[in-house]
Amino acid sequence: MQEDIKILVIEDDKSVRNLISTTLKINNYNYDTAESGNSALHLMTSIKYDIVFVDLGLPDIDGIDIIKKYREFSTTPIIVISARNNDEDKIEALDAGADDFLTKPFNIDELLARVRSTLRRIKYSNQTNKKDDIVFVNGDIKIDYPSRTVFVNSEEIHLMPQEYSILTLLSKNVGRVLTHQYILNQIWGNYLESDLSSLRVYMTSLRKKIEKYSNEKYIQTYIGVGYKMIRISKTNEDK
Ligand code: CA
Repeated sequence: MQEDIKILVIEDDKSVRNLISTTLKINNYNYDTAESGNSALHLMTSIKYDIVFVDLGLPDIDGIDIIKKYREFSTTPIIVISARNNDEDKIEALDAGADDFLTKPFNIDELLARVRSTLRRIKYSNQTNKKDDIVFVNGDIKIDYPSRTVFVNSEEIHLMPQEYSILTLLSKNVGRVLTHQYILNQIWGNYLESDLSSLRVYMTSLRKKIEKYSNEKYIQTYIGVGYKMIRISKTNEDK
């Protein structure tokens, strides 16, 4: 299966590029590397990749602009790699269409975990027939969109409209980090600064309701950035 997977690594820092490519090679993933934005765009327009890793600080083109350009023609998952421990950059990259991020320095386990979870998400969305996508299932969570009902471990949980909207938004973007700004825009429209604290309150309450019937942590917090719903796998294939 891994022979079919093709990954692009865009990184000008040789040591980081070598770390990633060596890790991918050992784990039998096919990959290409690009040291600049221009060479990356050339590859991106000619080859269909399954995952793209992009460093935000490139010598010629800003990583954010590469993400924006790629999103004009591709939905391939993008994972940002950045040395900048700067929330603003991450938020900008996510809002430009990146799916997730890795902050340098990262270890190879973190890198491989991102690759596996991204592939799991691709596989899942390929299996799901979009037209029949009216029931969402992830581990113990089941959402019946038409009737707006949510079950955790077969127990129906009762959510406030805002909690339901947040959960639905996360479920429709499973595996992607959604920024606070994105969530607030989608749910509140013209939101106020104070709505961010409401979002935190709803999130706490939502988690409590889910965790009453499940031990899994479905919603991951990215402090200062946003939230992500994790695709939970009940099989051993990801071990
Ligand atoms: Ca760099």
